Amino acid sequence: MSDKSKAMFGFDTNPSNIIPKKYTLDSKIRFRCHPGVSCFTACCGHIDIILTPFDILRLRKHLNLPADEFLLRFTTPTYVEKTDLPGVKIHLDKDGRCPFVTDKGCTIYPERPSACRYYPIGMANFHEGGQEGIQSEKFFFIVKEDHCKGHEEPTEWTIKEWRADQGVDLCDEMNREWLEIVMRRRSFGHQASMSEQAQKMFFLASTDTDKFRDFVFNSSFLDTYDVDQQTLDKIKDDDIEMMLFSFQYLASALFGAGDLKIKEEKIQERVSKIDDKKAMAEVKAEATYKDLLAERDKLTEALKDKK
Ligand code: SF4
Ligand code: SF4
Repeated sequence: MSDKSKAMFGFDTNPSNIIPKKYTLDSKIRFRCHPGVSCFTACCGHIDIILTPFDILRLRKHLNLPADEFLLRFTTPTYVEKTDLPGVKIHLDKDGRCPFVTDKGCTIYPERPSACRYYPIGMANFHEGGQEGIQSEKFFFIVKEDHCKGHEEPTEWTIKEWRADQGVDLCDEMNREWLEIVMRRRSFGHQASMSEQAQKMFFLASTDTDKFRDFVFNSSFLDTYDVDQQTLDKIKDDDIEMMLFSFQYLASALFGAGDLKIKEEKIQERVSKIDDKKAMAEVKAEATYKDLLAERDKLTEALKDKK
């Protein structure tokens, strides 16, 4: 089997494997994956499975591991969806197999990542859903790879039914804001570069809710951002709320978008710092200008003396 990317959100799948047809939630498909198919677990190797923050959270909870240990043991760094945003994918074993697969199937099946749930139905969002005020067209497509015998099974259902069966809707809901950030970043193309600090913050917020919580409560964060008490109460102990809050922070910090705002006095502080810098620059420019004038006068005098 050749190396490939399992479609997480449908953007990077090998186009030759995509059936050239747009599907809706009501479209009917024939597909079933079960231990009786001859290809059982064939798709659990030689694949890139990028993990969303929700995937990481629920996998590490299931495995009872802190985020950093989970990341170290089961993931490898990557960039998300052809952007400069750092993320992680599942670290395959030496034979190129997912560490969670056995002959009997997926050992983490109830908590399996979003990408494994979506397969083989991808979702595309034209305009890639990242920009506010821009209408996006959503549709589904089917990835049909030769090795996947699930397409030969007689079970018929609508895409809506199939997605409900796979628990995709919850993933969509949890991944939505993060994906919007990724897509917004992607729409900038490769011209716009992101600072190393912003990349680190994206990685932290996307992979480790505990460390991000520590950052929120034990840094100057709450002096800078306007966060109401109700939100603070929610994010203090609830990991899902913390994760969703981190997406708000990323939208605000990376694009100045969303509901999380910098406190008015902090904005004023920054404006006055900029004003101070501007005033200092003006004073410096004026002094330089005066020096230059003095130099010019000296030169003029010297030339006169020579005549
Ligand atoms: S997480 Fe489970 S379903 Fe996904 S590739 Fe690994 S073994 Fe297969
Ligand atoms: S039927 Fe398709 S999805 Fe299921 S195990 Fe086989 S290759 Fe994977």
